[in-house]
Amino acid sequence: SMASPALLMRVVASAYSVAEKAATIVRNVMSAGDLGIVEKAGPNDLQTKADRLVQMSICASLARKFPKVTIIGEEELPTEDVTEDLIEDGHCEEILKKPCPAQYTGIKEEELVIWVDPLDGTKEYTEGLLDHVTVLIGIAYGGKAIAGVINQPYYNYEAGANAVLGRTIWGVLGMGAFGFQLTEAPAGKHIVVTTRSHSSALVNECIAALNPDHVIRVGGAGNKIIQLIEGKASAYVFASPGCKKWDTCAPEAILHAVGGKITDIRGNPFQYNKEVKHMNSAGVLATLRNYDYYASRIPNTVKESLVP
Ligand code: AMP
Ligand code: MG
Ligand code: MG
Repeated sequence: SMASPALLMRVVASAYSVAEKAATIVRNVMSAGDLGIVEKAGPNDLQTKADRLVQMSICASLARKFPKVTIIGEEELPTEDVTEDLIEDGHCEEILKKPCPAQYTGIKEEELVIWVDPLDGTKEYTEGLLDHVTVLIGIAYGGKAIAGVINQPYYNYEAGANAVLGRTIWGVLGMGAFGFQLTEAPAGKHIVVTTRSHSSALVNECIAALNPDHVIRVGGAGNKIIQLIEGKASAYVFASPGCKKWDTCAPEAILHAVGGKITDIRGNPFQYNKEVKHMNSAGVLATLRNYDYYASRIPNTVKESLVP
């Protein structure tokens, strides 16, 4: 038919191109060599020039196309600094051609909330662990994460000069997720992925209680969800506050689109309406498969230490 594509698909198609522009900015700031690091809450809560420029680029680009959508970004920035070179007005044609899941065809602009983490894994970015970094654009409707884009600007950076650098993963509930190869974790093994730079006694106590075969410590919430959907890890376990709604919205949509599950450590789902508290105070528990195995082994003492 000649009907114009549903709003949700237009937003996802634009977010895809906006995230690719973001990835270019992330790489350009690093190669220019001046990261312009600012401490926010402290030395483990950093902001770089890339975090600032990318947030301006994503938020201004999406706001121009979708003026009634609520957009919530991690960084607190003055809006008047946005220059025209930061604006991306393109979209992914392939996404626009896909039919919108029926339950989302009637969504209006003012009903969407977009959660933006311009650069997830900033600490690792400043330390040169470049493939930990992702750009996260999560799309919520009715308080639920329903679509998301994860760009990994340095995917393949250790694969040599001829490898294509960077990739964009995207997904919509009821449609699936694309831009990667869905892979199961090794059967019968319990591989836990967790924080690298925000550990605590409780984080480690919780992991120890799961008696894992192996623990992977890497930066970024986006990166850890990628570990789950590519079969590198069987559970993402983070028994600590610190993760925010912009860290989990896009990853949640993509994980749920392929049949996985993410909640806080106590098993409560996350809410993404615009009024919600930003902090995921009760931590994160996510799996592609066997959610109940891990959820049933989280100690009550750990659950009681984390208040939503
Ligand atoms: P991580 O797994 O340590 O990379 O954390 C995932 C996301 O949550 C990143 O965006 C971190 O910046 C954020 N985060 C987790 N813990 C903290 C914390 N204690 N302080 C600030 N940000 C945190
Ligand atoms: Mg983050
Ligand atoms: Mg960030």
